[in-house]
Amino acid sequence: MLHILLERLRQGHRTVAFPREMPPLPPRYRGLPVLSDSPCATGCPSCAGVCPTGALGADEAGLFLDLGRCILCGACAAACPGRRVAFSQDHRLASSTRAGLVLRPGTRPTVTPLEPARLKLFSRSLRLRQISAGGCNACEADTNVLTTVVFDLGRFGIDFVASPRHADGVAVTGPVPQNMRAATLATFEAVPDPRVAIAIGACAISGGLFAGNPETTGGATPHLPVDLFIPGCPPHPLTILDGLLRLLGIKTP
Ligand code: SF4
Repeated sequence: MLHILLERLRQGHRTVAFPREMPPLPPRYRGLPVLSDSPCATGCPSCAGVCPTGALGADEAGLFLDLGRCILCGACAAACPGRRVAFSQDHRLASSTRAGLVLRPGTRPTVTPLEPARLKLFSRSLRLRQISAGGCNACEADTNVLTTVVFDLGRFGIDFVASPRHADGVAVTGPVPQNMRAATLATFEAVPDPRVAIAIGACAISGGLFAGNPETTGGATPHLPVDLFIPGCPPHPLTILDGLLRLLGIKTP
């Protein structure tokens, strides 16, 4: 017992100070894409041509990047001769709306807290059933790590539960393949009203790398009334935590 206590003293307090303080992110961390508003060379297809998910495009309003499809691989930034696409260290990628993930120069995704009725119910206690719907386990791992001592999700009253009957909402990961579609819908239906739906990762938002494959169904977005979209492939745990907290009206850095 003495050894355990001494070890606890030696290790000290391991939980990150977020949201009071922003923990340092590694220099190679790739966060919110930043699009420049300087015009592209006419007909230059360099960035869109290398994008593996079709997240980048241009229309009459100019260049846009769909963060819901982006896997943050960085290939576009490397390919753009005019450096019109760059990646910041900003971890705040979540959005309340799917349309809010389509970035243009000067825009960024935003999260609106739940409306007062659900906020009152869930702001101090939110239980989620995680649905791994064909995920590769990356989004699942970065969601799971939130329950460790480092992020300590429980201090915000948020936790994951085993049964949808005990949950206030679902957190979906993966592109929802055909054979998980019915299970995803049934799990959501088993959560008592009022409830929330959260899509975590590019696959759950848009199908990600698997979008358009007939074996997948485009993630959670076509099936559920998603309240929070958390992009990434996978999203950094801080991106997930930041989105969850802002959905519950908690200020983050
Ligand atoms: S970082 Fe995103 S937008 Fe850029 S090439 Fe990769 S997937 Fe496409």
